[in-house]
Amino acid sequence: MTAASDTPAYQKLLDLSRELALLQDTEALLSWDQETQLPRGGVAWRAEQMAWLGGEIHRRFTREEVGEWIAACEEAGFAEDSDEDANVREWRHGFDRATRLPSSLVEEFEKTRALAKSAWAEARQASDFSAFAPHLETLVDLSRQRAENWGYEDCLYDALIDDFERGARSAELKTLFDGLRPELVAIADEALSREPFDTARLAGDYPEASQQAFNREVAEAVGFDFSAGRIDTAVHPFCTGLGPRDTRLTTRYDESDFRSSLYGVLHEAGHGLYDQGLREDCHGQPVGRAVSLGVHESQSRLWENHVGRSRAFWERWLPRAIHYFPHLEGLTAEEMTRACNQAERSFIRVEADEVTYDLHIMLRFEIETAVFGGDLAIADIPGEWNRRFEDLLGLKVDRDANGCLQDIHWSLGIFGYFPTYSLGNLNASHLHAAALAQQPEIETQLAAGDYSGLLGWMREKIHRPGSRYLPRDLVTRAAGAPATPEAHLAHLRGRYLGA
Ligand code: ZN
Repeated sequence: MTAASDTPAYQKLLDLSRELALLQDTEALLSWDQETQLPRGGVAWRAEQMAWLGGEIHRRFTREEVGEWIAACEEAGFAEDSDEDANVREWRHGFDRATRLPSSLVEEFEKTRALAKSAWAEARQASDFSAFAPHLETLVDLSRQRAENWGYEDCLYDALIDDFERGARSAELKTLFDGLRPELVAIADEALSREPFDTARLAGDYPEASQQAFNREVAEAVGFDFSAGRIDTAVHPFCTGLGPRDTRLTTRYDESDFRSSLYGVLHEAGHGLYDQGLREDCHGQPVGRAVSLGVHESQSRLWENHVGRSRAFWERWLPRAIHYFPHLEGLTAEEMTRACNQAERSFIRVEADEVTYDLHIMLRFEIETAVFGGDLAIADIPGEWNRRFEDLLGLKVDRDANGCLQDIHWSLGIFGYFPTYSLGNLNASHLHAAALAQQPEIETQLAAGDYSGLLGWMREKIHRPGSRYLPRDLVTRAAGAPATPEAHLAHLRGRYLGA
């Protein structure tokens, strides 16, 4: 066994990681700026900057000598479970994937994406799938070629999922979703049969400045560090890390309803807490990086849903909400909790409640696996989408903008991403239940508005390990058992059925 410091190749890889992190964080800053500040006139030059940086990062990482350094480290061998061991494993995985794609395919994919994104925006506006279909056809074809180059064991779609969730397999996801679906439908049916809360009782003005002040107070209370982050306004809420101690959140404001910006901030602050909890001394290395989208999303859902939509949350925060929005005076914490947990049949995934959300995901997963399995032609997607949607959610899709054209993902050539949203929901419930079981005092702390116990548990078990373990192993180690749908179903029954 060799010490890492004795292996010059390992030092070279550390230096390269730092160099790549400098470039990647610069790219992330340019992208954040594009979403929050950039005037329209600057878009074309910005696209060139981003393309150049992206190409440069790829070129530096795929140099032949990088492969030699990784091979030298593998030869040397490092202690199992050490930082070095995990870094080398992840560098190998990333290097092989990056070098297996011929540069002609990389370029063609990037060009097609750029055109497809604007074609999708126009097609969605006009609700005309046929205008987007040729672009989607090409992107699916190129994605197939990418997957073939990367390689897979059972099914081509697995090679695509791997970009977002290392080690996830579509056969397992199918089994998971097949089991979850009837349970979710049953909970949704019962929740939907209940008298909804009259949201007219929330009607009134919610000035943006008051929402900002309230959101900031809440984000600070759950542990978001404003000396190492900030909140800005963007069309789509997101969170991005620009380097150690620089985490950016965005949200949007609706001056007739404060819930959208509040839950946007809580969701993104959950992502931000994960980023702020990563090891600064390993920034740029795999062990200093978030492990997967399914785990990242567990952190956002935890703070948004498990904490932020709970009765305990509103017991603590309703008086502050009334302070900022005086017309809420007279509402009880129980009523506010109901107002923030309404089950509803709706077309749009991003607006869906916790019960129906995963049904939207299953639909997308089924469509994607059918397309990549060769069982569904692109032209038939709208018909198939609408048929399955009515079957799942009991609504007839009136237009493609409310159906298969609603999400941006396919226009970016992103396939295999959607399942990670559901994995995030399941992981959130599983980890939340495990934290409460291991440290029962967390429940009392949450009721008192003290979030440090829950955050501390996540910091230790999920944030600090970075990508040391594969996503599923990380969750299993943290909770003491692999994630199953049980905790999530129990959470939904408790929340929506009072069971
Ligand atoms: Zn998220």
